[in-house]
Amino acid sequence: MDKKDLRNIPSVSSLLETPEISEFCSSYPRSLVVSTIREVLDKLREAIGRSGTSDTDISPPAILSLVKERLLERGKVPIRRVINATGVLVHTGLGRAPLASEALEAVKDIAEGYCSLEVDLLTGKRSSRGDHVESLAVALTGAEAAMVVNNNAAAVLLALDTLARGKEVIISRSQLVEIGGSFRMPEVMAKSGAIMVEVGTTNRTYISDYRKAITLNTALILKVHSSNFRIIGFTASPELEELARMAREFEIPVMYDVGSGALFNLETYGLPYEPTVEESVRAGTDIITFSTDKLLGGPQGGLVVGKKRFIDMMKRNPLARALRIDKLTIAALEATLRLYTDKSEIAKHLPILRMLTRPLEDIEKESRRFIKELSRRSDGRITATLEDGFSAVGGGSLPGEEVPTKLVSLSTGKPSAQELSDELRQNNPPIFGRIENDRLLLDLRTVSDKADVEAILSAVLRIFGVAQ
Ligand SMILES: *Cc1c(COP(=O)(O)O)cnc(C)c1O
Repeated sequence: MDKKDLRNIPSVSSLLETPEISEFCSSYPRSLVVSTIREVLDKLREAIGRSGTSDTDISPPAILSLVKERLLERGKVPIRRVINATGVLVHTGLGRAPLASEALEAVKDIAEGYCSLEVDLLTGKRSSRGDHVESLAVALTGAEAAMVVNNNAAAVLLALDTLARGKEVIISRSQLVEIGGSFRMPEVMAKSGAIMVEVGTTNRTYISDYRKAITLNTALILKVHSSNFRIIGFTASPELEELARMAREFEIPVMYDVGSGALFNLETYGLPYEPTVEESVRAGTDIITFSTDKLLGGPQGGLVVGKKRFIDMMKRNPLARALRIDKLTIAALEATLRLYTDKSEIAKHLPILRMLTRPLEDIEKESRRFIKELSRRSDGRITATLEDGFSAVGGGSLPGEEVPTKLVSLSTGKPSAQELSDELRQNNPPIFGRIENDRLLLDLRTVSDKADVEAILSAVLRIFGVAQ
């Protein structure tokens, strides 16, 4: 090997000073760009070691184009399992609710072969795919009827399209929510062809505001769970029951987009109050829509429960076909809902509730062990501290309500909190924590698996350069 050839290879730092690199750094984390440059240079050294520079282009532009190619390749990583140490339980970016093992088994069983998706096994006749899920939903909520669709956004769209196309829908100004991504109530309303009639003010809306807004063209009164925000202070809004009573006088249906779909009272677990679907049914609401992958703990889906008359109309809407759910979701959702038939055992079976109700002492014990191990294995080089903090339910459940937790706080400097976070995200498996005031925080509430705790430990050790 010719040492001189190797010396001609540009250095990492000289490449980092080229203008192209700042462009790469705007699309990819800097640490990824740096490690990609190193990787490309290593490969070049290897190639030169084999055959000299004669047939290897080592000019900076050639190297940069290899770096770009490799970055593009790396950017195309497939969807994969990640470790969620953010402390956000229903994290939309990380796939919302993890499924119960009962749901996984059901999916596997159904996916492996053929299934009775649309055949009634008693009569042999054609049936509807939603039947099983829908009868469970009826049993669990006390509603007259139910319909299952792809997600809550689909449920809201279908309800508005069916009941209010070309007609007026009355909604309080305090409930014109944006859920994140692209679900914004005024826009969904516009898409469905309904005419939005806003009443009240941002903080206060009275029953009389709704009453005054009713016309011959009013098709629906819509209430929306404030999901991801909370208005506090001088506020007022009519109780659901009061709204339903008034609407009945005018024979106008009331719909409630309850968002998260709590199927039982969370207060039984010492958690903050979240409206349950059952209590919304009891209040006389005609149509209630909610997600099945938030607090409910199932796969992505949307449920509509309420009066049979309206749900039958929705089932006949041609749009329903475009919004229908597939057999894997049906299998997982049915198994998840079945767990609710024994509410006393539910927190044992459903990961989302198990994590939500995980005892603080348990999280503290695990976090202390983590900190001790980190220090032991790095000979005291890496220090982490235990901090009090909060886990968030997320996904629009319990807005503003946080659940006390214990956090592992990694003191950073070199690497910085951002670099550490970037490196953890590129670990195998990827790890997500959260950054707060230049510290990297890990909430082990959502890391229930011992092997995952171990994976975080070894990732941190590796990133800090501790040989293992
Ligand atoms: C989350 C949420 C939605 C959207 O539900 P998806 O299941 O994500 O489609 C709609 N409305 C409310 C109030 C929500 O909280």
